[in-house]
Amino acid sequence: MQYESTLEFARAQDEADPLRTYRDRFHLPSLGTPELVYFTGHSLGLQPKTVRAAVELELDEWAKYGVEGHFHSTNPWYSYHELLTPPMAGIVGARESEVVCMNSLTTNIHLLFVSFYRPTEQRYKIISEAKMFPSDRYLLETQTKFHGSDPDDAIIEVAPREGEHLIREEDILNAIDANADQVAMVFFGGVNYFTGQLFDMQRLTEAAHAVGAVAGFDLAHAAGNVPLLLHEWDVDFAAWCSYKYLNSSPGNVGAIFVHERHGRNFELPRFGGWWGHDKSTRFQMKNGFQPMEGAEGWQLSNAPILGMSAMKASLDVFAEAGMPALRAKSEKLTGYLEYTIDLLAAEFPDADISIITPRDPGQRGCQISMDVAGRERRLFDDMIAAGVIADFREPCIIRMAPVPLYNSFEDVFTFGKVMRELLA
Ligand SMILES: *Cc1c(COP(=O)(O)O)cnc(C)c1O
Repeated sequence: MQYESTLEFARAQDEADPLRTYRDRFHLPSLGTPELVYFTGHSLGLQPKTVRAAVELELDEWAKYGVEGHFHSTNPWYSYHELLTPPMAGIVGARESEVVCMNSLTTNIHLLFVSFYRPTEQRYKIISEAKMFPSDRYLLETQTKFHGSDPDDAIIEVAPREGEHLIREEDILNAIDANADQVAMVFFGGVNYFTGQLFDMQRLTEAAHAVGAVAGFDLAHAAGNVPLLLHEWDVDFAAWCSYKYLNSSPGNVGAIFVHERHGRNFELPRFGGWWGHDKSTRFQMKNGFQPMEGAEGWQLSNAPILGMSAMKASLDVFAEAGMPALRAKSEKLTGYLEYTIDLLAAEFPDADISIITPRDPGQRGCQISMDVAGRERRLFDDMIAAGVIADFREPCIIRMAPVPLYNSFEDVFTFGKVMRELLA
């Protein structure tokens, strides 16, 4: 695509954008700045305007029915979580039986480790990425310790090579091969939160399986951002949150994927709770845990309806727009941000600006991480003051996500204009 750094060009792209009306369906924060550019959907997605009514409906139903709302409300609470499954399964390329929305992300990964991290004296290592999201790193450290090993020995971190920012796939594959007899699990973020690098999950899964290990992914930055085919890729398990690209409200319920071959395996160890127990006998309240088939068999508790009602409203918007259309726009819009940053880097060489996210659209979603070594944190503070909302990570990385559901080409143009003023 041929980009131009003019307002006319940006507006023409927005005019021609088949998803242009979706921006109006979200509350865009203004923070008192007239031209606010929100590039932080990678951390907290914006609020769909339909959320308020969806939550209010459940508040009204609760007021009206009390406990009877479990069976008599418009969307009975007893089975409310089931409404979320089809759109969520569509987003991650899974069968409906393989997905359930429950708990939150870190909790869910711990629960999945109960089933999928079964270390033996010989096979106990986890191959993972260096500079993981801290919650995932703490999870790996405490899981390996819990099973009696030393995290420094049990966790193998594949890092970018000296002087590079991205992890080379061949280095991951080599690490798997080099530890073939000892690897219990390959566990990666589908999209790395820091660099925005998208990993080839199918390839990593194949490599893990080839040495007798399982493959699991944290999809916090991938779900709703990049095309996923978890079932077809034969991924063993995955978990993600819903408040980043999925716009479901701060800290809201997450979701898990368990491949159907494991969902049917009742021998797998797991922690049980009544909501994972066979639906047909759940209310007999008898001893003897009988898990449901599929991902639902990992549930513990009855569903938090207020949060899930917000999630339902946001997933409905997603389902309507459709991942293929979102991805098509995402590639163009992210390319425009990349082009804009490259222009700034060329115009202001002293600022020492560069992009650390992969250049290949096939290896990234909508996040661009910009290295601002020349100006460091000052530039970020100035950006915020000027109304460009992004995210700063030490030492000097600014992470931005032009989100196809609600960001526009004009947002990207405005970003370029603001930066030009700041850097001049
Ligand atoms: C956002 C994020 C989390 C957050 O975990 P919560 O349990 O939802 O607080 C964890 N891991 C990764 C990779 C993330 O990006």
